[in-house]
Amino acid sequence: MQVTEIYRSLQGESSYAGLPCVFVRLTGCNLRCTWCDSEYTFTGGRKMSLEEVEAEVRRLATSGLVEITGGEPLLQEREAVPFMERLLALGYTVLLETSGERPLGNVPAQVIKIVDVKCPHSGEFGTFRDDNLDALSARDEVKFVLADREDYEFARDSTRRHDLSSRVRSVIFSPAFRKDAAGARDTSHCLLDPQQLAEWTRSDGLNVRLAL
Ligand code: SF4
Repeated sequence: MQVTEIYRSLQGESSYAGLPCVFVRLTGCNLRCTWCDSEYTFTGGRKMSLEEVEAEVRRLATSGLVEITGGEPLLQEREAVPFMERLLALGYTVLLETSGERPLGNVPAQVIKIVDVKCPHSGEFGTFRDDNLDALSARDEVKFVLADREDYEFARDSTRRHDLSSRVRSVIFSPAFRKDAAGARDTSHCLLDPQQLAEWTRSDGLNVRLAL
């Protein structure tokens, strides 16, 4: 696999947020989201064998949680799928962060897919493949990163139309952060005020998780 970095931190963008996790960040992405905070993954990285990546995960792991992320990790599906199977066989809980632009059908069923559906102001609207809905299960999560009311209405309507709250473990609505926000960040760096977002989800009666 072409790997940008492997490191241990706290999971931050799902219902597993706050738990210790080893991140395997693969190189390359076929999208260019306007608020992307991972542009350093677009090029470079180093080629590593599955054995080398596994050894690094074992060295860093203090819990059973591993996330495969990117970039878009499914651009390396041929290697990433066997690697996920390997981690599952070793007893790890495996999270996969993906945009849903690549087919999800070959991802092992035990892997928890966190699918970041791109909204109108992401710059990559319409890239989620609707047939991927069939690959989602009650262990998976769908995330919408929101910059404004139009993004919110798209996320709200998608959640209702596809009955996402019943279909997956967690539907997550998150305000997008300003791209120039660096260092210590607070809610003033959000493109959409979290309090406003909370009021919208409450008044619309949505069963979704607000996450920062
Ligand atoms: S899919 Fe993720 S890594 Fe790729 S451009 Fe969008 S935010 Fe960045």
